[in-house]
Amino acid sequence: MKAWDVIVIGAGAAGLMCAAEAGKRGRKVLLLDHGKRIGRKILMSGGGRCNFTNYFVEPAAYLCGNPHFVKSALARYTQWDFIALVEKHGIAYHEKTLGQLFCDDSAQDIVDMLVKECEDAGVTIRLRAEILQVDRLGEGFMVATAGDEVSCQSLVVASGGLSMPKIGASPFGYKLAEQFGLRVLPTRAGLVPFTLQPEDKATLEPLAGVSLPVVAESEDGTRFAESLLFTHRGVSGPSVLQISSYWQAGEQVHFELLPAGRLAQGVADSPNQELKTWLGRYLPKRLVETLLEREKITSKPLKQYVPKELAAIEQLLSAWPLKPGGTEGYRTAEVTLGGVDTNELSSKTMMANKVPNLYFIGEVVDVTGWLGGYNFQWAWSAGWCAGQVV
Ligand code: FAD
Repeated sequence: MKAWDVIVIGAGAAGLMCAAEAGKRGRKVLLLDHGKRIGRKILMSGGGRCNFTNYFVEPAAYLCGNPHFVKSALARYTQWDFIALVEKHGIAYHEKTLGQLFCDDSAQDIVDMLVKECEDAGVTIRLRAEILQVDRLGEGFMVATAGDEVSCQSLVVASGGLSMPKIGASPFGYKLAEQFGLRVLPTRAGLVPFTLQPEDKATLEPLAGVSLPVVAESEDGTRFAESLLFTHRGVSGPSVLQISSYWQAGEQVHFELLPAGRLAQGVADSPNQELKTWLGRYLPKRLVETLLEREKITSKPLKQYVPKELAAIEQLLSAWPLKPGGTEGYRTAEVTLGGVDTNELSSKTMMANKVPNLYFIGEVVDVTGWLGGYNFQWAWSAGWCAGQVV
């Protein structure tokens, strides 16, 4: 049985970063993945250009059972560290919006960069490696793959979450955590489009393709000012993906279509204009027609509405309520909420407190970032931290 210093399971963002860092310290590292390609999620991320980090990374941009957990790793390996790595490899990038950094050319550049870092650090990468069993072996571990048994002093689990099962996502990491007695928090899809309630389909499905800037708000008061997109299946767009991570089944989401006070201004400035025409100045016409029909509002000159009617219209425009039927689930979700409980791990090293030499990094851990490069930054930061000590 071949002995390694470190075995990392999962050649995704976190696993590649950890393996390269451990290799640089002279550790003999084996990186295993059951897929046939390295970094498949990186390759499909950001529309093929990988939104690899964000200028504005901060702990508040992460959902986690213990909000303090992410602070140490994000401070020790920052977005500036990753940007420096990208620049060292001569990869051209740009800011798209809201601090989001994308490759100019292709996400392949990021995968090539990480593979080069691993190669230079002497990491051995083995693909199509199905893990059959993991057992404790003294202070280390024995890992049985189809056709081979290997041992290691440190085992790092970087097998990701459940989103996109078609490209290799599996519950492996959660099962392994439970095998070693670690708590795993319930998982659900995050950064995911909403589907509609059956009764909303007839009125909202025809809006497919309509898009507009909104402020989406969840019942816990979290707000995101980004765009909303109506689709054939429901609603999507950055505002919906963001708010979906804060949404619980059965709850409503509110969309601010027009800021409070705009209607009163309209009544003062354009009293003779019909509501429908006036709304058409600010909102897509198809949406205006649908809203008025759904809410049974008759369009007439603004000055003809009594204060109670105006208040109801104002309420509708500043907080349009939608009760999603559900989400599109892991098939299209960008991330998985929940996972290995951070109370089981050291925030500095990612090692399991009660299982020395067992580490969990990246999305398998109960840490989920906002849309916009925050999830990759978590993978880089956690991977880097573990890479310093394994
Ligand atoms: P992963 O990158 O998922 O890697 C896990 C690896 O483990 C995979 O290679 C998998 O094959 C392997 N594995 C799983 N099970 C096993 C097993 N049983 N045995 C062996 N190997 C196994 N985040 C951003 O910050 N910016 C973006 O632009 C962005 N775009 C995204 C677009 C899409 C379509 C999706 C789905 C996600 C996107 N994300 C983005 C989220 C981001 O991809 C993840 O947060 C990140 O990849 C997590 O890194 P990870 O290393 O923990 O897991």
